[in-house]
Formats: sequence, structure tokens, C-alpha cells
Amino acid sequence: MIATATAICRICGSDRLEPLDVDSFLIPATSFAPDIHDYENHICGGCGVVFGSPPIEDERLREHYASEYWRTVHALELGGRHIDLPLDFDAGPLSFQRVHGFFETVTRVAARHPDVVPTPRDLVIDYGAYQGLFLHGVHELWGARCIAYDHNAKGIEFAQHFLGFAESRVATDILRDTFGERAKYVTVLHTLEHLTDPVAFLEHVRTQVLAPDGYLYVEVPNLYGFPLNDPLHLFSYSQDSLRRLFARAGFETIETATSGFPPRPDFLCQNDSEYLIGLARPALPEARMLSGNVDLGEIRRTLRRSWRRHAWGGLRRQGGRAVRETARLAYYFLFAGILEAISPALALGLARRLGFRRNPTVTSSSADRR
Ligand SMILES: [Zn+2]
Repeated sequence: MIATATAICRICGSDRLEPLDVDSFLIPATSFAPDIHDYENHICGGCGVVFGSPPIEDERLREHYASEYWRTVHALELGGRHIDLPLDFDAGPLSFQRVHGFFETVTRVAARHPDVVPTPRDLVIDYGAYQGLFLHGVHELWGARCIAYDHNAKGIEFAQHFLGFAESRVATDILRDTFGERAKYVTVLHTLEHLTDPVAFLEHVRTQVLAPDGYLYVEVPNLYGFPLNDPLHLFSYSQDSLRRLFARAGFETIETATSGFPPRPDFLCQNDSEYLIGLARPALPEARMLSGNVDLGEIRRTLRRSWRRHAWGGLRRQGGRAVRETARLAYYFLFAGILEAISPALALGLARRLGFRRNPTVTSSSADRR
């Protein structure tokens, strides 16, 4: 049941809040776990951010992160006991591959800001680092010193002992924790959308964690490319609303961009604008303004247009799968059902001569590891 609606925007303070009223069959916009958080999507007329209203209760959020959140899909219940993997190994490759977007951004921006490229002297602190695999990529590329920071103690242990980021630490209070040294980079990947007070968080980062000449790198789900059904995504940003958030928290945006890499294998409508990337730096006080009205009608039209495009992409992808599987069935039927019944040697010999694999679903173990 939907309880009392939000009265003002938690980012810009505007009371011009409206139901979003956009949904899609293949890109759902209603909570996939209403027991955690049931909400209706709203949009703010002051800054354009989309959020679920009513907001999730703090107590429920704490409870969820303390229990079910870290459970992997491979957890087992055996003899009345719950056991699980020490880390979510499925999440590791995605986390590591997000360094691709960081590398591209740094490379693009380096022509205008040569100091944006990390060096071995620079400190990079990753908020919401989980087990530190994004930082592993950063360290491999530039040799930078890295600190993983997260609520998950097992992930931090992995970063400290396996990846060698000894100063990594478990978060106690993200609005207060500081580090011995101000960082050249604070990176925040797929974390900002989970925070109840992103402005206070970014202000803390700017004034207590980041060096005055440092950079903030953010990656979040993009409003126009990602479903709005995750009960733990408290805010959804577009390039415009992310810039407004940066300005509100005292940052100057250097660049925003969208990306579809790495694709999530479980999302049929994966697209080239699933993620939103933002690079910013602490702004001088006079540069902390962002003017211009938010056009809610235009946001809704863009959203409908984008989702329509992604839905067609999903349909094409599904069609491609169907064609491939049908072709595979016909191939099996011909060789295993008909030719083999006549003569196994005929089926195998012909397949070999044509260069067909006997069973395309059985590959070598090295191929499995790719
Ligand atoms: Zn707002």
C-alpha cells in the first residue's frame, strides 16, 4: 500500500512534485519487491530527479542492508542452516569492467584537463567499492594508490588481503568518515542512487575527503535507459538532473555521458544508455549555480521515446535468440535425428567435412571461462 507522499524534493527542496505516469511492459517502473519498498515514481519540477514516493523507511533500509541484501543467488539452506559464498562472484566481473567507462572518460577529458589522468602518486577512494575490483582495474591501468570503502566487511577484507589495498576500510558513517589524506579521486559507482541524502554526502566528500583540486567520478543508472523498479534505487538521474545535483553540492560538472557497457546479461532491453557517467570537481562558490527550468513534459516524452526504442531493441534481441535456437534445433534434427539413424558414420563424417561442431552447446573448459 502506498502511504503518505513526499512533500518536498530531498535534493533541491522544491515542492513541485508530480507523479511520473510513465511505465513500460519490458522496462518496468513498479517495485520488484514491494515488501522492501512500495512506491509510485514521482518527478521533481525543481531539478528533474525521479524518485519513489513515499520514501523507504530508514529502519527498513537498515534492516534490509543488514540481512538479505548481501545474499547471493547461490545461497543454500541445508539441514536448517543457511550457507552462502563469501563474496558475490557474479558481481565481480561487472564491477571490474566498469573501469572501461572511467578510462574512456579520463581519456576524453585529458585533452582539456591533463591532470585528470591518475598517476602512481595519486590516491583513489572508491565509495561502495564492495570487493574493490573496479579499483583493481584502476591500479592495473595507472598504478594509483587505492582505498576500497564499503559496508561489506568481507568485500573489504578481500580488497585488503587479496588485492593489496591495505588501507581499505569498512564504512561506519558515510556522512562523517574521513581518511588520513585527501584524495585525488573519489569514485562512486552504482552507489549514489542508494543514498537517502545525496547532497549531504557529496558535500561531505567535497569538504572532507576530496583534495580541492581533485575529481569526483560518478556512475549511476540512467533515467532514460534503466528500469525504475529497484526498490533500493532512491533517485534516478538524467544528465541534466545529475548536473543539478553536482551544482547543488558545490561541484562543477566537467562532463556527463551515457554508456551501455558492461551490458547486464539479465536485462532483455540492454541498451547503449543504461548508465550515466559524471565527472566533476569542486567549484568556486560563484560557479555553484545552475539555472534554467525543468521541462517535465519533455522529460516524459524523452522517457517514452527512449523506452520505446529499448523495447524494440529487446524484441529484436529476443527474435535473434529464437532464430538461433530454431536453426540449432533444425541442425540437431537433421544430423542426430535423421542422418545418424541412417548411419552414425555418415552424420559424423558429413559434419566434420562441413566444419560443424558435433554439439555446439558443449565447449571446451577454456571457452567456458571466457
Ligand atoms: Zn528536486
